[in-house]
Amino acid sequence: MTTPAATAASLVRPAIAELAGYVPGEQPQSGKWIKLNTNENPYAPSPAVARAVAATAEGRTLAKYPDPLATVFRMRAAEILGVDPDWIICGNGSDDLLTILVRTFVGEGEWLRIAYPSYILYRTLAGLQGAHCEELMYERDWSLSDAFAAPRPGLKLAFLANPNSPSGTLVSPDRVAELADRLPCPLVVDEAYGDFADAHCLDLVRRCERVIVTRSFSKSYALAGLRFGFAVARPEIVAELRKVKDSYNCDALSIAAATAAIDDRAWLADNRAKIVATRRRLTDAMRALGYDAIESQANFVWCTHPDRPHKPVYEALKAQRVLIRFMQYPGWGDGLRITVGTDAEIDAFLTIMKTL
Ligand SMILES: *Cc1c(COP(=O)(O)O)cnc(C)c1O
Repeated sequence: MTTPAATAASLVRPAIAELAGYVPGEQPQSGKWIKLNTNENPYAPSPAVARAVAATAEGRTLAKYPDPLATVFRMRAAEILGVDPDWIICGNGSDDLLTILVRTFVGEGEWLRIAYPSYILYRTLAGLQGAHCEELMYERDWSLSDAFAAPRPGLKLAFLANPNSPSGTLVSPDRVAELADRLPCPLVVDEAYGDFADAHCLDLVRRCERVIVTRSFSKSYALAGLRFGFAVARPEIVAELRKVKDSYNCDALSIAAATAAIDDRAWLADNRAKIVATRRRLTDAMRALGYDAIESQANFVWCTHPDRPHKPVYEALKAQRVLIRFMQYPGWGDGLRITVGTDAEIDAFLTIMKTL
């Protein structure tokens, strides 16, 4: 028996049937592309990662279930970050933690508050819960007004990507603390790009009772294909989040790999320096081409042109096998988000840009 699409939609929860579903950036699986569209790191991860994966794959380790709490990783990360291991919970990428957070705090018919324009997935996560999503517009200079902290009946959780995507801008930790203190609900500071920024909010987790920070291994550790992330929160909150997560949400290979990656501090410092230097070059070159390129604290640059349309630029680049992200934000405007690649990739991109 087959189930036509219309019938399937009538079988599922109404919240799912109404949902458009999150659409990730293009991931071509064949051919040679210069990929500057999904903020992956252009460099290979620390060589310690491959060694850890190989060692874990030997013997009988993979025959057993992994440690549900990823203890070796939490011990190592706690030491490096200066927090207690009980303040850390790991996930299958930081998206997994964002899902766990929404499921833990936001019930059907309740509210999630997010800044806008930002990471589109947040809205999808609220939709999956049958919850409402309030999008509070950034000011034109990408700062946040006090309205972000205003009370609202049914408001259960707020998300702030910091640095933000697509802007690459940072709300200072002092300002985040101010907003968190006024908010009537927990505030998740999504630091997927935190390692590229000049400041972060890890210290706030201790200072402000309701701040939770999430981190990803996909961007700064060059491990998007591995799927690992973690959150830092008070142990009472971590205990609640543990009830919601899948028992084995992180596999043995990714736990070993992430532990090796976070341990290689020299690799991170070197990679960050390379990305920051190329980010400077990309920003200046786009400005020379007439774009408003915002000073970025992440591994991408948000560019808008005062009078040239953005979509044809994206299309012309794609025709030459260079992918960047064309983003449209209703009520805000559109623009181009360009990931910081290697110097050679950025040179190839700029060569095409100069011909357009
Ligand atoms: C990339 C990204 C994530 C997801 O990271 P994963 O660890 O790959 O799941 C989360 N938040 C923001 C803002 C991102 O850009």
